[in-house]
Amino acid sequence: MKELIRRAAEDLAAAGNVAALTGAGISIESGIPPFRGKGGLWERFDPMEFAHIDALMRDPAKVWKVLVREMKEIVDRAKPNDGHKGLAKLEARDRLKTIITQNIDGLHQAAGNTDVIEYHGTFAWQRCMDCHKKYESRKVDISEIPPRCDCGGILRPDAVFFGETIPAKAMWRSRQAAVDCDLMLVVGTSAVVQPAAMIPVIAKDNGAKIIEINPERTPLTDEISDYLIMGEAGEVINRIVAAMD
Ligand SMILES: [Zn+2]
Repeated sequence: MKELIRRAAEDLAAAGNVAALTGAGISIESGIPPFRGKGGLWERFDPMEFAHIDALMRDPAKVWKVLVREMKEIVDRAKPNDGHKGLAKLEARDRLKTIITQNIDGLHQAAGNTDVIEYHGTFAWQRCMDCHKKYESRKVDISEIPPRCDCGGILRPDAVFFGETIPAKAMWRSRQAAVDCDLMLVVGTSAVVQPAAMIPVIAKDNGAKIIEINPERTPLTDEISDYLIMGEAGEVINRIVAAMD
């Protein structure tokens, strides 16, 4: 691992334009549960019943009581961990430009990254279903469910629900970031779910080097990644940043 850490530090130092693709694995150490997989939220909640746009439109109070309130409370409390902070340090040193994330916790921005593309929107903000005004989630009072906008409309997370499309701007910008980068860090995601799955492929096709940081091998490992640094995001990124000093 030590050799790979040094190699990643050298590759980052030499790269002209670096992008990162992040997923649930980077936020687990901040207490954000993953949606998919073992221990994921979808083991406890049927997403079609609680995370589909039709369910939200039909009965917003029910969706708030079961899923959204819990997620809001988790995200409101969550703090960036070493993985997020390490990526913020890379941006501060001009070694990372754009983060494309599948996460909805807003922790990359909280850590200090300024160019974050959120594929699935965010639970860190709520928006009015009527007038679309946005409210910072942690400032939204939920003593009454569902919470409401000044205009009387119901608030919903500014996130993408099942049955909704990924924002076109996020799609376009992430594709562009993948084309433009010459190094991509893939952190805490196996990138098997579309549209995130195409991002490392586009980067690779356009000549970028792909460094994967994951606790285990993924479908990317043999096909796409130049190399895998096996471990938890926080520890690995910390060690890479330290090796760059
Ligand atoms: Zn409103």
